[in-house]
Amino acid sequence: MTRKERTEGMGFATQAIHAGIEADPITGAVGPSIVTSCMFTAEFGDIGFSAAGTNESKVPFAYAREGHPNSAQLERKLAYLDEAEDAVVFSSGIAAISGLLLQELSPGDHVLISDVSYAGTAEFARGFLRSKSIEVSLVDMSDLEDITANLRPNTKMIYAETPCNPVLKLVDIAAVAELAHAKGAKLVIDGTFATPAVQKPILLGADYAVYSLTKYYSGHGDALGGAIVGRREDIDRIRRDVGVHLGANLSPFNSWLIMRGIETLKLRMAAYSQSAQKIAEFLEQHPFVSSVRFPGLKSHPQYEVAQKQMSLPSGMISFKPLDNDALGHAISANMKVFTFAASLGLSRSLILHCDTKDLFETTFVLDQKHSDRYRAWAGDGFFRLSIGLEDVEDLIADLRAALDAAASACQSDKLQASQ
Ligand SMILES: *Cc1c(COP(=O)(O)O)cnc(C)c1O
Repeated sequence: MTRKERTEGMGFATQAIHAGIEADPITGAVGPSIVTSCMFTAEFGDIGFSAAGTNESKVPFAYAREGHPNSAQLERKLAYLDEAEDAVVFSSGIAAISGLLLQELSPGDHVLISDVSYAGTAEFARGFLRSKSIEVSLVDMSDLEDITANLRPNTKMIYAETPCNPVLKLVDIAAVAELAHAKGAKLVIDGTFATPAVQKPILLGADYAVYSLTKYYSGHGDALGGAIVGRREDIDRIRRDVGVHLGANLSPFNSWLIMRGIETLKLRMAAYSQSAQKIAEFLEQHPFVSSVRFPGLKSHPQYEVAQKQMSLPSGMISFKPLDNDALGHAISANMKVFTFAASLGLSRSLILHCDTKDLFETTFVLDQKHSDRYRAWAGDGFFRLSIGLEDVEDLIADLRAALDAAASACQSDKLQASQ
């Protein structure tokens, strides 16, 4: 009996640790060994000159770009965690996302993409896809009417992130799946901010879930990786075309690091969520904070959607202070624990500023209606927090120190101006 059968039907934490991993039949090693060989040997006739020449029923691996033991273990684990049929991994989240879009869309097709999303996705869709004659509409995925109004006869895909980076708007996955399927389009959900420990897009009706494994899955900020999860037939096709021919596959070492991170994913998501809830509540009552967006707060405009499809709020918060520059300047002098940096989902807590003007010039190039919506939600800019695993009291003290310092700097500026 294989390990996969032994853990079938068991809980998330059990799968996170055991699924996809079997003791090494030669050495007896319990945990996965890292297999670095780029080629694998077999009998005459079972391996040919190209990937198509591999006899898959006999030879699991022929050449590492087509797959290797560590990526195969990780893929099985990921499929289990999302309760999906299969998964394929890539060298980064954006390699998975761009690969999926290129696989599914042809010139003349139309795709709906979130007006606000991970910067790389927004830039790839607006620039690269449009340059290849793929029609791209940027819509507000939190608004079912905006989606419906933008569907066309050639719409092949709806692509959405939830919770969405960086503003933490949510998308009702089941409702958007219904809209997509009624038009014969596929729904892709980028669930990086949640992971299946919190939200399961495939069970909610999405055709594909995509992830940056770099973030919560890996959990340590030391390995880039990405994944596409979905039906076996679709994933097979993607592995053969995008995986083999674009060649952005995940290295054995990164596969191993990410599997190691996944063993604690459930525990970590619970810890991130619990601390983030306390921090969001602290921010909400601080006088220098004008608004907080966090799916665990009742004040989140889509709190109901969060309750419906997320089992935990996850660890990402965005908030607006009364004065962004004042807080920005207060960070390095007053914060001892938070690091000012991009990325998210690791043990360390991070803070990042998202300036609206900069984003509008480089990333979210939107029409008037969607720019107005973005400003209504995000103002001129906000700070994004990725809550880590430090003691929550220290994180709150850090934020309080910077917010109080920013507030008193603004006070003394005002005093000076009035003198
Ligand atoms: C980081 C991120 C990506 C891209 O992943 P990389 O691993 O950095 O390529 C995609 N989507 C979301 C929501 C992200 O946060």
